[in-house]
Amino acid sequence: MSSADFDTLLSATQATLARIATEFTPAVFASSLAAEDMVLTDLILRNKLAIGIFSLETGRLHAETLGMLARIKETYGSEITLFKPETAAVENYVAANGLNAFYDSVEMRKECCRIRKIEPLNRALAGNKAWVTGQRRAQSTTRTELNVQEDDAAHDMQKFNPLADWSEEDVWHYIRSNNVPYNPLHDKGYPSIGCEPCTRAIQPGEDVRAGRWWWENPESKECGLHVVDGKLIRIKSATN
Ligand code: SF4
Repeated sequence: MSSADFDTLLSATQATLARIATEFTPAVFASSLAAEDMVLTDLILRNKLAIGIFSLETGRLHAETLGMLARIKETYGSEITLFKPETAAVENYVAANGLNAFYDSVEMRKECCRIRKIEPLNRALAGNKAWVTGQRRAQSTTRTELNVQEDDAAHDMQKFNPLADWSEEDVWHYIRSNNVPYNPLHDKGYPSIGCEPCTRAIQPGEDVRAGRWWWENPESKECGLHVVDGKLIRIKSATN
């Protein structure tokens, strides 16, 4: 991409974020603290946009990912709001199934994601008009129909994916050009970062999400945050 093309892409993304901050308040950004989400964090915090930022602290994140919270505080002077799973639900799951039962079946994995991610996500989204994600269309076979703005019927709000049109190269160009802090795991072969036991490094040429839930089929890899009732849903676009 030429620098003029990148500037056009960036301007469109900035316009989308500004529109969210003015027309869809209250709005929140769900950050996984990975590279794409640091681009959005930088754009939101440097421009002081009225979009809250939260992360899901599942209790199973890498130390490097948790370390990003302090780096964000140092760089921007802002705290990321953390949403954690219900203690009793985690304890019941672990007591009944074991700490790492998500390796045993897709159902066990989805139940762990439901407790540690989906229920806290629903709490984080409650009362907002819109939410923002760092998803990109090119990220995997499950994201090929991603749009910048979507009607999230499950949460009864708008969902924005401002980086839907960005390539991985665009993300890193922005990070390096703007000295944006990023998770050191990205330099160790982790393009996509989730919970520590469910994420591994990948080899050059592998799909960027091949390191997530690698023991399952590609079609069932989404964590449930963009899934309804355990099924991938076709979310209706509000713009095209
Ligand atoms: S990614 Fe793994 S550890 Fe994290 S909530 Fe899902 S199944 Fe549990």
